Amino acid sequence: MLTLNSLDRVAESYVRYTLALGEIDPYHVDAFFGPPEWKEQAKGITLEEIIDKAAEARAAISDDQIKAAPRAKFLAKQLEALKAQAQLKNGTPFTFDEESSAVYDVVAPAFPDSYYANVVNQLEPLLPGQGTLAEKWEALRSQFNIPPDRLEALFTAGVDIARERTKKYIPLPANESFEIELVSGEVWGAYNWYKGQSHSLIQVNTDLPMTVNRIIHLACHEGYPGHHVYNTLLEKGMVEENNWVEFKLFPLYSPIALIAEGTAEYGAELNFSPGDRLDFETEVLYPMAGLDPARGEELNHIQELMDGLGNASNEAARRYLDGRASKSETIEWLQVHALASPKRAEQNVRFFETHRAYIVTYDVGEAMVKSYVESKAGSVEEKWKVFAALLSSPAVPSDLLV
Ligand SMILES: [Zn+2]
Repeated sequence: MLTLNSLDRVAESYVRYTLALGEIDPYHVDAFFGPPEWKEQAKGITLEEIIDKAAEARAAISDDQIKAAPRAKFLAKQLEALKAQAQLKNGTPFTFDEESSAVYDVVAPAFPDSYYANVVNQLEPLLPGQGTLAEKWEALRSQFNIPPDRLEALFTAGVDIARERTKKYIPLPANESFEIELVSGEVWGAYNWYKGQSHSLIQVNTDLPMTVNRIIHLACHEGYPGHHVYNTLLEKGMVEENNWVEFKLFPLYSPIALIAEGTAEYGAELNFSPGDRLDFETEVLYPMAGLDPARGEELNHIQELMDGLGNASNEAARRYLDGRASKSETIEWLQVHALASPKRAEQNVRFFETHRAYIVTYDVGEAMVKSYVESKAGSVEEKWKVFAALLSSPAVPSDLLV
């Protein structure tokens, strides 16, 4: 007798109830290119029902299946996260760490304020001028702002070079493509909307000026070998070859997001050595922006130190969402410990309010992907191989622990 594989049934349930949560919280479903009627049928389902059905589907996966099949482990983690996210929406209190553990399968490391102060002390002599250090950093970086009418051209040039370099190591479908759109009024700097069939819409937020040295990072993160490539490879391997319906869906608040953000962040580092990046910036991007490249290296050095403050966002979000710091205290703390301008600190807090513990996916994800890839590979070619295999697998964050 022919029966539907039990994991296929679990997968269908997972997709349907994730879509149901997406009907309640529109941010939840980042991409869906499965049967359109499933989306229609997902309307009107309550949070209580989603919680029960997620638990039921999770219980249908046995420990033996989890041990034997990466697909089973992936579905189990995604279902546990779906249940937790629905509970959170339904008013169940979670601390920041409980939420990140239940939804993203990780807990962000906690560093004392002295850790950030140490990085800030290294930055102090490099930031001349008047005012607080955050103001001095803002004044310095504003000299490298891209004129708004040239942003799209620079970003396109960045994505093109990132794609060319990625294709040397990762074969991509011939029809893969992307489009770029400038938008405003968002809590993020840029966003990749995957549309299926190897096509992405990459949006860039123009609310805050973008400096020329961020182009390559964002182009890699959103495009190549970041989100666009990850989604394309999952569609090719998991959907077209395996016919696994759970990969026709991308829920934002779930463990797969940590893999996505971690690989996108690390992918920028893998795709460009600091020297290669500076060469491209100096030869192409600075002239396109009408900026003098003489201080490009200095800016990149400062930015590298600034990146050491990345985890400050996790800490600020933890204190704010756990009710240990008010909004104004959090904005103030970010100015002192992350050298954020008041405007950027406010944008950060809006991000925490909107996406909550999602913030951990970036720095924690990057550190996990980096140590995973680099523990398995020595040469650049090997690193790309391990990286591409990770992007083509149903990995969960705990698989990355080395
Ligand atoms: Zn991202």
